Amino acid sequence: MTDSKSALRIDVSKGGPGSGKGTQCANIVQHFGYTHLSAGDLLRAEIKSGSENGTMIQEMIKEGKIVPSEVTIKLLQKAMQESGNDKFLIDGFPRNEENRAAFESITKIEPEFVLFFDCSEEEMERRLLNRNQGRVDDNIETIRKRFKVFLESSIPVVEYYDSKGKVRKIDAAKSVEEVFEAVKAIFTQKYEKAAAV
Ligand code: UDP
Ligand code: MG
Repeated sequence: MTDSKSALRIDVSKGGPGSGKGTQCANIVQHFGYTHLSAGDLLRAEIKSGSENGTMIQEMIKEGKIVPSEVTIKLLQKAMQESGNDKFLIDGFPRNEENRAAFESITKIEPEFVLFFDCSEEEMERRLLNRNQGRVDDNIETIRKRFKVFLESSIPVVEYYDSKGKVRKIDAAKSVEEVFEAVKAIFTQKYEKAAAV
């Protein structure tokens, strides 16, 4: 990556499976001009493209496991370069501390802030089982594994960013509209602050 990349603005969206990250990210993109990079979507596209990593990625997703950092980071870097934008909303990544450290050391980029969509497991499970997107990992067995990985591996990443004062927690158990009001308030505050400096 070139030096200019360190000037990129990145916000990260975190939240358990089914917390509504994807839906809210689409809203944020429309309103605030970010490029949405869903690590999960990039990995699923990589499987579809018939790449040599496809089978390995498919297996990991089916088991709810975290794909090796170097694979996911390469896909994110490529998508960033191709977008032509300098404002990114990375959704569903980094998923563990190793993902985070590798991304930061390779790209030299740290997020400006981190949105954390807080939602109970019962509600997330209900949403995942109802969405019917034909995903290999939206079955009760894999969902339980994803929750476990989220608690054990992803929550420590949220805690790390929280220790740096970067986490903005959102109550994600509400309706899509109500959650987006809370999201908008966070972004509006951010731009007002920037304008005041
Ligand atoms: N995944 C991964 N690394 C990432 C993002 C996703 O390994 O950075 C894999 C992981 O197996 C995860 C699956 O892709 O369980 C689905 O992720 P996605 O974010 O699409 O699902 P969500 O958690 O939002 O339901
Ligand atoms: Mg997602």
